[in-house]
Amino acid sequence: HLSKRLRAVAELVPPSRQLADIGSDHAYLPAYLLQRHVIQAAIAGEVRLGPLQNAQKEITKLGLATVMQARLGDGLAVLNPTDQVDVIVMAGMGGELISDILTAGQAKLANHPVLVLQPNVDENTVRRWLVAHQYQISAECIVEDSGHFYEMMRAEFSPTPVRLSETEINFGPQLLAQKDAIFQKKWRDRLQKSQLILSNLENSASQPQDKIAAMQRRVTAIQEVLHDNG
Ligand code: SAM
Repeated sequence: HLSKRLRAVAELVPPSRQLADIGSDHAYLPAYLLQRHVIQAAIAGEVRLGPLQNAQKEITKLGLATVMQARLGDGLAVLNPTDQVDVIVMAGMGGELISDILTAGQAKLANHPVLVLQPNVDENTVRRWLVAHQYQISAECIVEDSGHFYEMMRAEFSPTPVRLSETEINFGPQLLAQKDAIFQKKWRDRLQKSQLILSNLENSASQPQDKIAAMQRRVTAIQEVLHDNG
């Protein structure tokens, strides 16, 4: 019963020994990966008691107690150096929260685990965090699930500094390199919405010039990406 969104997140996870799913709720994702032997062990982290209990129930129901632990705590605070986590997943949270959790937990990233991240919004904030912390985006995808476009990425620590252009930060370096059908669909949809907002601003009584200029820049940026097939 994994959603299309979580199945796509699962596909970004490399085979690994120990995975941490932070903000796991029902622990559906690590359970799925354990059952398929993509990972050997998992930690499901939760900051709230209700979701933690959801995870514990799922672990018991599926008989995964020997290979998965549910732990209560804020972000990466649930991890210890002895866990030797290879992969950290954060899915279904805002990009600001994901970035804040990574910043607060930086000490837990000393062995440079692979990061698999699915921000619901503010993907650019996550990409900026990755660049600033020398993580390179190695895979990215978009899926449409129940009328929503979800972006997700795998990032790996890079031995050399990482650079992304402003366009790559906003649209995703791997997504731009592909520009597949779902990418086109997402950004055509966003273009229409931005154009509507722009015309509403232009026709409003106050005509806020700063907001109009910002929305014009956004419309132009999306048009450039959609029309440039290079
Ligand atoms: N990861 C699952 C998914 O993608 O379907 C569940 C997503 S759910 C919308 C977000 C979960 O993150 C909630 O269960 C919430 O309690 C948890 N959460 C929010 N802030 C957190 C934090 N600082 N540390 C750990 N978990 C957190």
